[in-house]
Amino acid sequence: MKLQITHLYPDLLNLYGDRGNIQCMVMRCRWRGIEAEVTECRMGDSVDFLHSDIILLGGGSDREQQIVCTRLQRIRKDFREYVEDGGTVLAVCGGYQLLGHYYDTPDGRMKGLELVDLYTVQESPRLIGNIVLKNETLPYEIVGFENHGGRTYIGNNAAFGEVVSGYGNNGKDGCEGVQYKNVFGTYLHGPLLPKNPHVCDLLLTSALERKYGKAELSPLDDALEREANRYILKRVLEKNKTRGA
Ligand code: GLN
Repeated sequence: MKLQITHLYPDLLNLYGDRGNIQCMVMRCRWRGIEAEVTECRMGDSVDFLHSDIILLGGGSDREQQIVCTRLQRIRKDFREYVEDGGTVLAVCGGYQLLGHYYDTPDGRMKGLELVDLYTVQESPRLIGNIVLKNETLPYEIVGFENHGGRTYIGNNAAFGEVVSGYGNNGKDGCEGVQYKNVFGTYLHGPLLPKNPHVCDLLLTSALERKYGKAELSPLDDALEREANRYILKRVLEKNKTRGA
């Protein structure tokens, strides 16, 4: 078995080391004897949607998003076909915002890919801090860090998770991220997958199922990752309690 991972515009969209998510996917494949190959597509490179199994779109500043957004319009049609065909996508923060209809900032409107029915409007203050989510289909909480000025509204789509602590999509409706077919959009930055191996396996499973039919991932020894996840969870929840007291 082999998975082809495509990293879109790592030179522009790689805030807080979103690239670590790729390394996590590759290692969790290799430890199970699944081959994983990574292609980095920079501005100007063509994107091979036909042979991609997972696409990562990372986070970026408004300036970098603006540059990427023009480029994305050119691959929009092929990207949409990939998504509608069940292709797996992980889009983080700036990349997540660009999945939708638009991202409005005081400097104007950035047109999105319109792959998912959502939109984003920038407001002050920035929403920054540790965040904890609950996703009913996953065995334990998702922990992470968010830092965004954009407020995202996902309409009737499913959220990536319910906010247990933190701000999420807009700080109001208790939703974080989005899930549409095999597209996962989230504001959780940086080492999302190393901190949450269960989310990594969710992505790998969706990609393997699309490619090979049924896919059962062999279990890995996640004791350390699990302990780190629990530690962050405890720390965030305790801090909340102290604040509330
Ligand atoms: N520029 C976007 C915002 O501030 C996304 C930032 C990011 O990717 N962290 O909302």
